Amino acid sequence: MTKTDKTSESHVFEADVARLLQLMVHSVYSDRDVFLRELISNAADACEKLRYEALQTPELLGKQPEMRIVVTADPEKRVLTIADNGIGMSRDELVESLGTIARSGTRAFLERVEAAGGEKSPNGDRLIGQFGIGFYSVFMVADSVDVLSRRAGSTDAWRWTSTGSGSYEVAPLAAADAPERGTHVVLQLKEDAGRYAERATLERIIKAQSGHVAVPIAIADTSD
Ligand code: ADP
Ligand code: MG
Repeated sequence: MTKTDKTSESHVFEADVARLLQLMVHSVYSDRDVFLRELISNAADACEKLRYEALQTPELLGKQPEMRIVVTADPEKRVLTIADNGIGMSRDELVESLGTIARSGTRAFLERVEAAGGEKSPNGDRLIGQFGIGFYSVFMVADSVDVLSRRAGSTDAWRWTSTGSGSYEVAPLAAADAPERGTHVVLQLKEDAGRYAERATLERIIKAQSGHVAVPIAIADTSD
């Protein structure tokens, strides 16, 4: 942690995360669509984790026994939100899951990309597909990302924010802005990624890449 005030803490990314983000931010990979598959698969995993924990602790389900994923697009503001009502993340889980690389596959991915010629590698697409690079792929399409999360059964909620360059912020989230349960990933899309806030694009990608997901996925837009 580098800086603290009453509400917001700034954290520096672990070195391997910073390297990976550098690759994502400067990505010239043509197939940026994969970011959506990664976010939806995380949302579905979070729903599965809650289902599992609820076997022991049914009250975690509260007033929302049904799991769902809602993708909301605002084409005018170029904002895309992927919301789930799954397990959610505590403050410490946000820092651990989105600030460090716990997954062994990621280091192998970095080594392969660097061996193949770095961020301009023509094999980047294939490598991302092969390794499933996960959450950090959002920075291929977003200038900044907010993750709003409330762990199931918890009274507090948190906001993780980053532009993908070096550091991220974590701050407590007012109840009025927080999901009742689970996680909202909010992307401010890059200027050249506005199509990811268009319903037709989202429908096409979700159909092609997330058809097998066991949790219902709804697509909403701000005019709905
Ligand atoms: P992986 O899914 O392979 O673990 P990711 O980079 O996609 O790697 O995600 C890292 C971690 O962040 C996940 O393992 C999970 O703990 C956490 N995470 C990401 N998205 C969510 C979400 N929507 N709800 C709960 N936890 C999440
Ligand atoms: Mg994942």
